[in-house]
Amino acid sequence: MAEEAYRRILLKLSGEALLGDEDYGIDPNMIQRIAAEIAEVSRAGVGVAVVIGGGNIFRGAGLAESGIDRVTGDHMGMLATVMNALALQDALESIEADARVMSAISVHDVCEDYIRRRAIRHLEKGRVVVCAGGTGNPFFTTDTAAALRAIEVGADILLKATKVDGVYTSDPVKNSDAERFDSLNYDRVIEHKLGVMDANAIVLCRDQGMPIRVFNVFEDGNLMRLVRGEAIGTLVS
Ligand code: UDP
Repeated sequence: MAEEAYRRILLKLSGEALLGDEDYGIDPNMIQRIAAEIAEVSRAGVGVAVVIGGGNIFRGAGLAESGIDRVTGDHMGMLATVMNALALQDALESIEADARVMSAISVHDVCEDYIRRRAIRHLEKGRVVVCAGGTGNPFFTTDTAAALRAIEVGADILLKATKVDGVYTSDPVKNSDAERFDSLNYDRVIEHKLGVMDANAIVLCRDQGMPIRVFNVFEDGNLMRLVRGEAIGTLVS
């Protein structure tokens, strides 16, 4: 494992990352590509835990706008993350990478429950742990779940995968003057509402000293570059 900068990472993938060219659901090419990047890092001896979102299928807040009870909508959102997790597990297994979905909500017929000690054991055995079901509670997000799981499994860093190559002063897609930060501290992110992750997640990372790196997951090889210690994207610490 010699040259790897990290021993264990937590990768946060939003549901949107799986959309690829689709408007809804999962683009098979995209999930296969992401699985290949994860498998490469895992084969290099780095423990990989993934927290996956569900926004490509359902979000509780969006469902509530259409009249569904918010808590029910959040349950639907959490179940959406289970579907994404199963798809990622399948994509990983199709390229011979060992993976286990562990869910914060019990769905015993399709995956294991998230049990911290068991998750750590899987990581020690070189299996990719795909955490589903967010925190298991309504009104939270999978960003907060990512912060929580990163701390619980003792990850060295939380890698937040996005469409852009870091954190900007404003949305770089809408504003060509937006400037990218190389690094930031947690309080600045919260104070300036710099859409890195939601405030709950940032506060948890700040209080437990969990560094976050925001990077572009759509650029081939970025995950391996990060694991090798390249300073791409924006570091929040
Ligand atoms: N969710 C929840 N509790 C959690 C995590 C997620 O209720 O701890 C629900 C919530 O409705 C959320 C949906 O699951 O909108 C999908 O998660 P998220 O929006 O974080 O997914 P992403 O934006 O990363 O795709």
